Amino acid sequence: MALLDYKLPNEGLAGCFINGAWVHPGHDIGVENPSRREEICRVGCGGTAEIHASVQAARTAQKAWGARAASERGAMLTELGNRLEANAEEVARMLAAESGNAIKTQSRGEAAGAAGVLKYYGGVAVEQKGETLPLGPGLMSYATREPHGVVGSIIPWNSPLQLGCVKISMALATGNCLVLKPAEDAPLAILKLAELAADIFPPGVLNVVTGTGQEAGAALAGHSGIDKISFTGSSEVGKLIGHAAADRIANVTLELGGKSPCIIFPDACTPDRIEETAQGVVNAMRFARQGQSCTAGSRLFVHVSVWDDLMPRVVDKAAAMSVGDALDDTVEIGAVINQEHYDEICAYVAQAHAQGAIFLTGETPKATGAGFHPVPTILTGLDNSWRIAREEVFGPVLVALPWEDEDAMIAQANDTHYGLAAFIFSRDYSTITRITRALKAGWIQVNQGGGQIPGMSYGGIKQSGLGSEYSIEGALEAYTFRKCVTVAL
Ligand code: NAD
Repeated sequence: MALLDYKLPNEGLAGCFINGAWVHPGHDIGVENPSRREEICRVGCGGTAEIHASVQAARTAQKAWGARAASERGAMLTELGNRLEANAEEVARMLAAESGNAIKTQSRGEAAGAAGVLKYYGGVAVEQKGETLPLGPGLMSYATREPHGVVGSIIPWNSPLQLGCVKISMALATGNCLVLKPAEDAPLAILKLAELAADIFPPGVLNVVTGTGQEAGAALAGHSGIDKISFTGSSEVGKLIGHAAADRIANVTLELGGKSPCIIFPDACTPDRIEETAQGVVNAMRFARQGQSCTAGSRLFVHVSVWDDLMPRVVDKAAAMSVGDALDDTVEIGAVINQEHYDEICAYVAQAHAQGAIFLTGETPKATGAGFHPVPTILTGLDNSWRIAREEVFGPVLVALPWEDEDAMIAQANDTHYGLAAFIFSRDYSTITRITRALKAGWIQVNQGGGQIPGMSYGGIKQSGLGSEYSIEGALEAYTFRKCVTVAL
Protein backbone atom coordinates (compact mmCIF):
# COMPACT_ATOMS: atom_id res chain seq x y z
CA MET A 1 0.00 0.00 0.00
CA ALA A 2 1.20 3.51 -0.72
CA LEU A 3 2.83 5.18 2.25
CA LEU A 4 0.32 7.98 2.01
CA ASP A 5 -2.37 8.53 -0.61
CA TYR A 6 -2.80 12.16 0.29
CA LYS A 7 -1.71 14.72 -2.26
CA LEU A 8 -0.73 17.99 -0.64
CA PRO A 9 -2.80 21.03 -1.59
CA ASN A 10 -1.51 23.55 -4.13
CA GLU A 11 -0.33 20.86 -6.58
CA GLY A 12 1.72 19.24 -3.86
CA LEU A 13 3.50 22.48 -2.95
CA ALA A 14 1.54 23.26 0.21
CA GLY A 15 3.18 24.96 3.10
CA CYS A 16 1.27 27.95 4.23
CA PHE A 17 -2.43 28.76 4.11
CA ILE A 18 -2.57 32.54 4.28
CA ASN A 19 -5.59 34.78 3.72
CA GLY A 20 -7.53 31.93 2.14
CA ALA A 21 -4.82 30.92 -0.38
CA TRP A 22 -1.94 28.44 -0.49
CA VAL A 23 1.45 30.09 -0.49
CA HIS A 24 4.78 28.32 -0.95
CA PRO A 25 7.59 30.11 0.87
CA GLY A 26 10.29 29.11 -1.62
CA HIS A 27 12.09 26.49 0.40
CA ASP A 28 10.83 23.39 2.15
CA ILE A 29 11.43 20.77 4.85
CA GLY A 30 10.98 17.00 4.75
CA VAL A 31 8.39 15.13 6.81
CA GLU A 32 9.52 11.64 7.82
CA ASN A 33 7.49 8.56 8.73
CA PRO A 34 9.17 7.52 12.00
CA SER A 35 7.96 3.90 11.74
CA ARG A 36 9.73 3.39 8.42
CA ARG A 37 12.32 6.15 8.52
CA GLU A 38 11.30 7.31 5.06
CA GLU A 39 10.51 10.82 3.89
CA ILE A 40 6.77 11.05 3.16
CA CYS A 41 6.84 14.43 1.46
CA ARG A 42 8.22 17.92 1.70
CA VAL A 43 6.25 20.95 2.90
CA GLY A 44 6.99 24.65 2.64
CA CYS A 45 9.13 26.12 5.38
CA GLY A 46 7.65 29.48 6.33
CA GLY A 47 9.48 32.19 8.24
CA THR A 48 9.19 35.85 9.17
CA ALA A 49 7.60 36.92 5.86
CA GLU A 50 4.85 34.29 5.98
CA ILE A 51 4.13 34.99 9.65
CA HIS A 52 3.88 38.71 8.95
CA ALA A 53 1.54 38.18 5.98
CA SER A 54 -0.66 35.88 8.10
CA VAL A 55 -0.85 38.34 10.98
CA GLN A 56 -1.81 41.14 8.58
CA ALA A 57 -4.51 38.98 7.00
CA ALA A 58 -5.85 37.96 10.42
CA ARG A 59 -5.95 41.56 11.65
CA THR A 60 -7.89 42.63 8.57
CA ALA A 61 -10.37 39.75 8.88
CA GLN A 62 -10.91 40.02 12.65
CA LYS A 63 -13.22 43.07 12.72
CA ALA A 64 -15.93 41.39 10.64
CA TRP A 65 -15.33 37.96 12.20
CA GLY A 66 -15.66 39.27 15.77
CA ALA A 67 -18.84 41.14 14.83
CA ARG A 68 -20.62 38.02 13.54
CA ALA A 69 -23.24 36.33 15.67
CA ALA A 70 -21.58 33.69 17.84
CA SER A 71 -24.09 31.16 16.50
CA GLU A 72 -22.73 31.69 12.95
CA ARG A 73 -19.15 31.17 14.09
CA GLY A 74 -20.26 28.06 15.96
CA ALA A 75 -22.08 26.68 12.92
CA MET A 76 -18.88 26.97 10.86
CA LEU A 77 -16.88 25.07 13.48
CA THR A 78 -19.55 22.38 13.51
CA GLU A 79 -19.36 22.15 9.71
CA LEU A 80 -15.57 21.69 9.91
CA GLY A 81 -16.13 18.98 12.53
CA ASN A 82 -18.56 17.20 10.21
CA ARG A 83 -16.12 17.36 7.30
CA LEU A 84 -13.32 16.03 9.48
CA GLU A 85 -15.54 13.17 10.57
CA ALA A 86 -16.37 12.39 6.94
CA ASN A 87 -12.63 12.24 6.12
CA ALA A 88 -11.59 10.60 9.40
CA GLU A 89 -9.97 7.45 7.99
CA GLU A 90 -7.77 9.36 5.53
CA VAL A 91 -6.76 11.81 8.24
CA ALA A 92 -6.04 8.97 10.69
CA ARG A 93 -3.66 7.41 8.15
CA MET A 94 -1.88 10.74 7.75
CA LEU A 95 -1.55 11.07 11.52
CA ALA A 96 -0.17 7.56 11.87
CA ALA A 97 2.32 8.13 9.05
CA GLU A 98 3.66 11.46 10.31
CA SER A 99 3.47 11.06 14.11
CA GLY A 100 4.20 7.34 14.52
CA ASN A 101 1.05 6.94 16.65
CA ALA A 102 -0.52 3.55 15.87
CA ILE A 103 -3.62 3.80 13.72
CA LYS A 104 -5.41 1.10 15.71
CA THR A 105 -4.94 2.45 19.22
CA GLN A 106 -4.33 6.17 18.67
CA SER A 107 -4.69 7.85 15.30
CA ARG A 108 -8.27 6.81 14.57
CA GLY A 109 -9.24 7.95 18.07
CA GLU A 110 -7.43 11.24 17.57
CA ALA A 111 -9.23 12.00 14.30
CA ALA A 112 -12.61 11.26 15.92
CA GLY A 113 -11.72 13.18 19.09
CA ALA A 114 -10.58 16.23 17.11
CA ALA A 115 -13.89 16.32 15.23
CA GLY A 116 -15.62 16.10 18.63
CA VAL A 117 -13.68 19.14 19.88
CA LEU A 118 -14.76 21.22 16.85
CA LYS A 119 -18.38 20.19 17.32
CA TYR A 120 -18.31 20.82 21.08
CA TYR A 121 -17.10 24.41 20.56
CA GLY A 122 -19.49 24.79 17.65
CA GLY A 123 -22.30 24.12 20.11
CA VAL A 124 -21.10 26.22 23.05
CA ALA A 125 -19.94 29.24 21.02
CA VAL A 126 -23.24 30.94 21.90
CA GLU A 127 -22.36 30.75 25.61
CA GLN A 128 -20.09 33.80 25.39
CA LYS A 129 -22.08 35.45 28.17
CA GLY A 130 -21.12 38.40 30.35
CA GLU A 131 -22.34 39.53 33.76
CA THR A 132 -24.46 42.29 35.21
CA LEU A 133 -23.34 44.07 38.37
CA PRO A 134 -25.67 45.46 41.07
CA LEU A 135 -23.82 48.74 41.65
CA GLY A 136 -26.81 50.55 43.16
CA PRO A 137 -29.80 52.71 42.19
CA GLY A 138 -29.18 54.90 39.17
CA LEU A 139 -26.22 52.85 37.94
CA MET A 140 -26.42 50.02 35.47
CA SER A 141 -23.22 48.08 34.95
CA TYR A 142 -22.46 45.03 32.86
CA ALA A 143 -19.43 43.22 31.49
CA THR A 144 -19.11 41.66 28.06
CA ARG A 145 -16.59 39.06 26.86
CA GLU A 146 -14.52 40.52 24.01
CA PRO A 147 -12.06 38.66 21.78
CA HIS A 148 -8.39 39.62 22.21
CA GLY A 149 -8.05 40.06 18.43
CA VAL A 150 -5.43 37.90 16.72
CA VAL A 151 -4.19 34.71 18.39
CA GLY A 152 -0.90 33.00 17.55
CA SER A 153 -0.86 29.27 18.38
CA ILE A 154 2.09 26.90 18.32
CA ILE A 155 1.54 23.15 18.74
CA PRO A 156 3.69 20.01 19.16
CA TRP A 157 3.76 16.77 17.15
CA ASN A 158 2.44 14.27 19.69
CA SER A 159 -1.29 14.81 19.06
CA PRO A 160 -1.17 17.50 16.40
CA LEU A 161 -4.72 17.32 15.08
CA GLN A 162 -6.42 17.21 18.48
CA LEU A 163 -4.37 20.14 19.75
CA GLY A 164 -4.80 22.07 16.49
CA CYS A 165 -8.58 21.66 16.75
CA VAL A 166 -8.55 22.85 20.38
CA LYS A 167 -6.68 26.02 19.39
CA ILE A 168 -8.80 26.67 16.28
CA SER A 169 -12.06 26.09 18.15
CA MET A 170 -11.30 28.22 21.19
CA ALA A 171 -9.90 31.13 19.17
CA LEU A 172 -12.53 31.24 16.42
CA ALA A 173 -15.58 30.52 18.61
CA THR A 174 -14.77 33.55 20.76
CA GLY A 175 -14.34 35.90 17.78
CA ASN A 176 -10.57 35.91 17.41
CA CYS A 177 -8.69 35.17 14.18
CA LEU A 178 -5.81 32.71 14.27
CA VAL A 179 -2.30 32.08 12.95
CA LEU A 180 -1.44 28.45 13.69
CA LYS A 181 2.05 26.97 13.46
CA PRO A 182 2.12 23.16 13.52
CA ALA A 183 5.23 21.20 14.53
CA GLU A 184 7.74 20.63 11.73
CA ASP A 185 7.66 16.87 12.40
CA ALA A 186 3.89 16.50 11.95
CA PRO A 187 2.18 19.22 9.89
CA LEU A 188 0.22 17.05 7.43
CA ALA A 189 -3.07 16.44 9.25
CA ILE A 190 -3.24 20.17 10.00
CA LEU A 191 -2.72 20.98 6.31
CA LYS A 192 -5.54 18.58 5.46
CA LEU A 193 -7.71 20.34 8.05
CA ALA A 194 -6.93 23.72 6.47
CA GLU A 195 -7.91 22.25 3.10
CA LEU A 196 -11.24 21.10 4.57
CA ALA A 197 -11.75 24.54 6.16
CA ALA A 198 -10.77 26.60 3.12
CA ASP A 199 -14.29 27.41 1.92
CA ILE A 200 -15.90 27.51 5.37
CA PHE A 201 -14.23 30.49 7.03
CA PRO A 202 -13.72 33.89 5.37
CA PRO A 203 -10.12 34.55 4.17
CA GLY A 204 -7.73 35.51 6.97
CA VAL A 205 -9.78 33.99 9.80
CA LEU A 206 -7.69 30.79 9.92
CA ASN A 207 -4.08 30.90 8.71
CA VAL A 208 -1.53 28.08 8.92
CA VAL A 209 2.23 28.59 8.63
CA THR A 210 4.39 25.47 8.50
CA GLY A 211 8.03 25.87 9.46
CA THR A 212 10.56 25.41 12.23
CA GLY A 213 10.23 26.61 15.80
CA GLN A 214 13.37 28.73 15.64
CA GLU A 215 12.13 30.65 12.57
CA ALA A 216 8.35 30.58 12.17
CA GLY A 217 7.59 29.83 15.85
CA ALA A 218 9.84 32.56 17.23
CA ALA A 219 8.58 35.05 14.62
CA LEU A 220 4.99 34.31 15.63
CA ALA A 221 5.61 34.53 19.39
CA GLY A 222 7.44 37.84 18.97
CA HIS A 223 5.13 39.51 16.46
CA SER A 224 3.69 42.80 17.70
CA GLY A 225 0.41 42.10 15.86
CA ILE A 226 -0.31 39.00 17.96
CA ASP A 227 -2.59 39.88 20.88
CA LYS A 228 -2.57 36.48 22.51
CA ILE A 229 -0.23 33.49 22.34
CA SER A 230 -1.45 29.98 23.03
CA PHE A 231 1.42 27.49 23.16
CA THR A 232 1.45 23.75 23.74
CA GLY A 233 4.85 22.07 23.96
CA SER A 234 7.84 21.60 26.22
CA SER A 235 8.40 23.64 29.37
CA GLU A 236 11.77 24.81 27.98
CA VAL A 237 10.22 26.38 24.88
CA GLY A 238 7.23 27.51 26.96
CA LYS A 239 9.58 29.70 29.01
CA LEU A 240 10.88 31.34 25.80
CA ILE A 241 7.30 31.98 24.72
CA GLY A 242 6.50 33.44 28.14
CA HIS A 243 9.43 35.84 27.82
CA ALA A 244 8.36 36.89 24.32
CA ALA A 245 4.82 37.56 25.59
CA ALA A 246 6.08 39.43 28.66
CA ASP A 247 8.11 41.82 26.51
CA ARG A 248 4.90 43.34 25.15
CA ILE A 249 2.48 42.24 27.95
CA ALA A 250 0.60 39.94 25.55
CA ASN A 251 -1.88 37.47 27.00
CA VAL A 252 -0.49 33.93 27.10
CA THR A 253 -1.69 30.36 27.66
CA LEU A 254 0.95 27.66 28.19
CA GLU A 255 0.20 23.93 28.12
CA LEU A 256 3.54 22.30 28.96
CA GLY A 257 5.15 19.08 30.12
CA GLY A 258 4.51 16.74 33.03
CA LYS A 259 5.88 13.92 35.17
CA SER A 260 2.67 12.69 36.71
CA PRO A 261 2.31 10.36 39.69
CA CYS A 262 0.09 7.28 39.55
CA ILE A 263 -0.78 6.11 43.07
CA ILE A 264 -2.04 2.66 44.01
CA PHE A 265 -3.88 1.95 47.26
CA PRO A 266 -4.34 -1.63 48.52
CA ASP A 267 -8.14 -1.56 48.13
CA ALA A 268 -7.72 -1.17 44.34
CA CYS A 269 -5.98 -4.55 44.24
CA THR A 270 -8.60 -6.90 45.64
CA PRO A 271 -9.03 -10.06 43.50
CA ASP A 272 -12.04 -8.62 41.68
CA ARG A 273 -10.31 -5.30 40.89
CA ILE A 274 -6.64 -6.01 40.38
CA GLU A 275 -6.80 -6.70 36.62
CA GLU A 276 -8.70 -3.48 36.00
CA THR A 277 -6.20 -1.54 38.13
CA ALA A 278 -3.23 -3.05 36.27
CA GLN A 279 -4.81 -2.07 32.95
CA GLY A 280 -5.49 1.40 34.32
CA VAL A 281 -1.79 1.80 35.15
CA VAL A 282 -0.82 0.77 31.60
CA ASN A 283 -3.39 3.17 30.13
CA ALA A 284 -2.30 6.03 32.40
CA MET A 285 1.33 5.51 31.32
CA ARG A 286 0.19 5.93 27.70
CA PHE A 287 2.29 2.99 26.51
CA ALA A 288 0.03 2.93 23.43
CA ARG A 289 1.37 6.38 22.58
CA GLN A 290 4.98 5.33 23.13
CA GLY A 291 4.72 7.31 26.38
CA GLN A 292 4.68 10.51 24.32
CA SER A 293 1.93 12.16 26.27
CA CYS A 294 2.19 15.19 28.54
CA THR A 295 -0.22 13.55 31.01
CA ALA A 296 1.56 10.15 31.16
CA GLY A 297 1.44 8.65 34.66
CA SER A 298 5.15 7.90 34.47
CA ARG A 299 5.90 7.67 38.23
CA LEU A 300 4.09 4.70 39.74
CA PHE A 301 3.73 4.58 43.54
CA VAL A 302 2.50 1.14 44.66
CA HIS A 303 1.67 0.29 48.28
CA VAL A 304 4.16 -2.36 49.48
CA SER A 305 1.38 -4.71 50.57
CA VAL A 306 0.14 -5.15 46.96
CA TRP A 307 3.44 -4.77 45.06
CA ASP A 308 3.93 -8.52 44.53
CA ASP A 309 0.38 -8.99 43.27
CA LEU A 310 0.11 -5.94 41.07
CA MET A 311 3.51 -5.48 39.43
CA PRO A 312 3.61 -8.83 37.54
CA ARG A 313 0.21 -8.00 36.05
CA VAL A 314 1.30 -4.49 34.98
CA VAL A 315 4.49 -5.97 33.50
CA ASP A 316 2.61 -8.71 31.62
CA LYS A 317 0.10 -6.30 30.14
CA ALA A 318 2.76 -3.81 29.02
CA ALA A 319 5.09 -6.49 27.64
CA ALA A 320 2.25 -8.14 25.69
CA MET A 321 1.55 -5.02 23.61
CA SER A 322 2.64 -5.35 20.00
CA VAL A 323 5.17 -2.80 18.76
CA GLY A 324 5.65 -1.94 15.10
CA ASP A 325 4.61 0.07 12.05
CA ALA A 326 1.99 2.65 13.04
CA LEU A 327 0.05 2.01 9.82
CA ASP A 328 -0.24 -1.73 10.55
CA ASP A 329 -3.77 -2.37 11.81
CA THR A 330 -2.62 -5.03 14.28
CA VAL A 331 0.02 -2.91 16.01
CA GLU A 332 -0.69 -1.33 19.41
CA ILE A 333 2.47 0.76 19.93
CA GLY A 334 3.98 2.71 17.04
CA ALA A 335 7.20 4.70 16.84
CA VAL A 336 8.70 7.68 18.67
CA ILE A 337 8.89 10.76 16.57
CA ASN A 338 12.51 11.13 15.41
CA GLN A 339 16.15 10.16 15.86
CA GLU A 340 16.91 12.96 18.30
CA HIS A 341 14.06 12.04 20.60
CA TYR A 342 14.78 8.32 20.31
CA ASP A 343 18.40 8.98 21.34
CA GLU A 344 17.21 10.99 24.36
CA ILE A 345 15.05 8.08 25.54
CA CYS A 346 17.99 5.69 25.11
CA ALA A 347 20.23 8.02 27.14
CA TYR A 348 17.72 8.30 30.01
CA VAL A 349 17.33 4.52 30.27
CA ALA A 350 21.07 3.87 29.92
CA GLN A 351 21.83 6.33 32.72
CA ALA A 352 19.26 4.73 35.05
CA HIS A 353 20.69 1.31 34.17
CA ALA A 354 24.20 2.49 35.02
CA GLN A 355 22.93 3.86 38.34
CA GLY A 356 21.61 0.41 39.21
CA ALA A 357 17.93 0.48 38.23
CA ILE A 358 16.29 -2.94 37.86
CA PHE A 359 14.40 -3.71 34.64
CA LEU A 360 11.04 -5.36 35.38
CA THR A 361 10.48 -5.41 31.63
CA GLY A 362 12.09 -3.78 28.60
CA GLU A 363 15.69 -2.86 27.96
CA THR A 364 17.89 0.04 27.05
CA PRO A 365 16.74 0.70 23.49
CA LYS A 366 19.31 0.71 20.72
CA ALA A 367 19.38 2.52 17.41
CA THR A 368 17.48 0.46 14.88
CA GLY A 369 17.33 0.40 11.12
CA ALA A 370 13.65 -0.40 10.97
CA GLY A 371 12.12 2.56 12.79
CA PHE A 372 12.24 4.26 16.15
CA HIS A 373 10.60 1.52 18.22
CA PRO A 374 11.50 1.29 21.93
CA VAL A 375 9.63 -1.42 23.84
CA PRO A 376 7.65 -0.70 27.02
CA THR A 377 10.13 -0.42 29.86
CA ILE A 378 9.39 -0.58 33.61
CA LEU A 379 12.18 0.22 36.05
CA THR A 380 12.44 -0.09 39.81
CA GLY A 381 15.17 -0.11 42.45
CA LEU A 382 15.66 3.60 41.99
CA ASP A 383 15.21 6.80 43.91
CA ASN A 384 12.73 9.59 43.32
CA SER A 385 15.70 11.97 43.03
CA TRP A 386 17.17 10.31 39.91
CA ARG A 387 16.84 12.09 36.56
CA ILE A 388 14.63 9.32 35.19
CA ALA A 389 12.21 9.90 38.05
CA ARG A 390 12.27 13.69 37.82
CA GLU A 391 12.46 14.63 34.14
CA GLU A 392 9.94 14.08 31.37
CA VAL A 393 11.39 11.18 29.34
CA PHE A 394 8.51 11.32 26.81
CA GLY A 395 9.04 7.67 25.98
CA PRO A 396 7.49 4.34 27.10
CA VAL A 397 9.43 4.31 30.38
CA LEU A 398 7.65 3.85 33.71
CA VAL A 399 9.46 4.12 37.05
CA ALA A 400 7.87 2.12 39.88
CA LEU A 401 8.41 2.95 43.56
CA PRO A 402 6.95 1.07 46.56
CA TRP A 403 5.43 3.14 49.39
CA GLU A 404 4.33 2.46 52.96
CA ASP A 405 3.87 5.80 54.69
CA GLU A 406 1.16 7.94 53.06
CA ASP A 407 2.59 11.34 54.03
CA ALA A 408 6.04 10.42 52.72
CA MET A 409 4.53 9.12 49.48
CA ILE A 410 2.49 12.32 48.93
CA ALA A 411 5.60 14.40 49.60
CA GLN A 412 7.43 12.40 46.89
CA ALA A 413 4.50 12.64 44.46
CA ASN A 414 4.48 16.45 44.86
CA ASP A 415 8.29 16.72 44.79
CA THR A 416 8.44 17.79 41.15
CA HIS A 417 8.55 21.07 39.27
CA TYR A 418 5.64 19.79 37.16
CA GLY A 419 1.95 19.82 38.11
CA LEU A 420 -0.05 18.62 35.13
CA ALA A 421 -1.86 15.37 35.97
CA ALA A 422 -2.12 12.60 38.57
CA PHE A 423 -3.86 9.25 38.86
CA ILE A 424 -5.23 7.53 41.98
CA PHE A 425 -6.51 3.98 42.24
CA SER A 426 -8.74 3.44 45.29
CA ARG A 427 -12.43 2.73 45.88
CA ASP A 428 -12.54 4.43 49.26
CA TYR A 429 -14.18 7.81 49.09
CA SER A 430 -12.36 9.30 52.06
CA THR A 431 -9.03 8.19 50.57
CA ILE A 432 -9.97 9.75 47.24
CA THR A 433 -10.98 13.10 48.73
CA ARG A 434 -7.94 13.21 51.06
CA ILE A 435 -5.43 12.41 48.32
CA THR A 436 -6.97 14.57 45.59
CA ARG A 437 -6.82 17.47 48.07
CA ALA A 438 -3.16 16.79 48.85
CA LEU A 439 -1.88 16.40 45.28
CA LYS A 440 -0.62 19.45 43.40
CA ALA A 441 -1.83 18.86 39.85
CA GLY A 442 -4.27 20.40 37.39
CA TRP A 443 -6.07 17.17 36.44
CA ILE A 444 -6.54 14.11 38.64
CA GLN A 445 -8.15 10.91 37.37
CA VAL A 446 -9.44 8.31 39.80
CA ASN A 447 -9.60 4.62 38.81
CA GLN A 448 -8.93 5.31 35.14
CA GLY A 449 -6.23 6.50 32.77
CA GLY A 450 -8.26 8.15 30.02
CA GLY A 451 -7.79 11.18 27.77
CA GLN A 452 -9.27 14.68 27.87
CA ILE A 453 -12.97 15.07 27.12
CA PRO A 454 -14.39 18.27 25.63
CA GLY A 455 -16.13 20.24 28.36
CA MET A 456 -13.58 19.57 31.10
CA SER A 457 -11.20 22.37 32.12
CA TYR A 458 -7.71 21.02 31.53
CA GLY A 459 -4.42 22.74 32.35
CA GLY A 460 -1.32 22.48 34.50
CA ILE A 461 0.18 24.31 37.45
CA LYS A 462 3.83 24.97 38.39
CA GLN A 463 6.05 24.47 35.30
CA SER A 464 3.29 22.54 33.53
CA GLY A 465 1.61 25.71 32.42
CA LEU A 466 -0.77 28.62 32.72
CA GLY A 467 -4.48 28.66 31.91
CA SER A 468 -6.84 25.89 30.92
CA GLU A 469 -8.31 24.54 27.70
CA TYR A 470 -10.99 22.11 26.43
CA SER A 471 -13.89 23.89 28.16
CA ILE A 472 -16.06 26.91 27.46
CA GLU A 473 -14.80 28.40 30.77
CA GLY A 474 -11.21 27.94 29.60
CA ALA A 475 -11.99 29.57 26.25
CA LEU A 476 -13.68 32.55 27.90
CA GLU A 477 -10.91 33.04 30.45
CA ALA A 478 -8.07 32.63 27.99
CA TYR A 479 -9.37 33.94 24.66
CA THR A 480 -11.49 36.90 25.78
CA PHE A 481 -11.19 39.85 28.12
CA ARG A 482 -13.93 41.45 30.21
CA LYS A 483 -15.11 44.85 29.05
CA CYS A 484 -17.02 46.56 31.84
CA VAL A 485 -19.64 49.21 30.96
CA THR A 486 -21.11 51.41 33.69
CA VAL A 487 -24.11 53.55 32.76
CA ALA A 488 -25.56 56.36 34.94
CA LEU A 489 -29.29 56.14 34.34
P1 NAD B 1 8.63 21.62 21.65
O1 NAD B 1 8.47 22.60 22.75
O2 NAD B 1 10.00 21.25 21.23
O3 NAD B 1 7.90 22.15 20.33
C1 NAD B 1 6.55 22.55 20.34
C2 NAD B 1 6.33 23.57 19.25
O4 NAD B 1 7.12 24.72 19.52
C3 NAD B 1 6.71 23.10 17.84
O5 NAD B 1 5.76 23.59 16.90
C4 NAD B 1 8.06 23.78 17.63
O6 NAD B 1 8.33 24.03 16.26
C5 NAD B 1 7.86 25.08 18.38
N1 NAD B 1 9.10 25.73 18.83
C6 NAD B 1 10.30 25.14 19.09
N2 NAD B 1 11.21 26.10 19.44
C7 NAD B 1 10.55 27.29 19.40
C8 NAD B 1 10.94 28.64 19.67
N3 NAD B 1 12.19 28.96 20.04
N4 NAD B 1 10.00 29.60 19.53
C9 NAD B 1 8.74 29.30 19.16
N5 NAD B 1 8.33 28.06 18.87
C10 NAD B 1 9.22 27.05 19.01
O7 NAD B 1 7.77 20.35 22.08
P2 NAD B 1 7.60 18.98 21.31
O8 NAD B 1 8.84 18.20 21.46
O9 NAD B 1 7.09 19.26 19.93
O10 NAD B 1 6.40 18.33 22.14
C11 NAD B 1 6.57 17.60 23.30
C12 NAD B 1 6.31 18.47 24.52
O11 NAD B 1 4.99 19.01 24.47
C13 NAD B 1 6.37 17.66 25.80
O12 NAD B 1 7.06 18.38 26.78
C14 NAD B 1 4.89 17.51 26.19
O13 NAD B 1 4.68 17.30 27.56
C15 NAD B 1 4.33 18.80 25.73
N6 NAD B 1 2.88 18.72 25.53
C16 NAD B 1 2.05 19.32 26.44
C17 NAD B 1 0.66 19.20 26.31
C18 NAD B 1 -0.28 19.82 27.31
O14 NAD B 1 -1.48 19.88 27.03
N7 NAD B 1 0.18 20.26 28.47
C19 NAD B 1 0.13 18.49 25.23
C20 NAD B 1 1.01 17.90 24.32
C21 NAD B 1 2.38 18.03 24.48
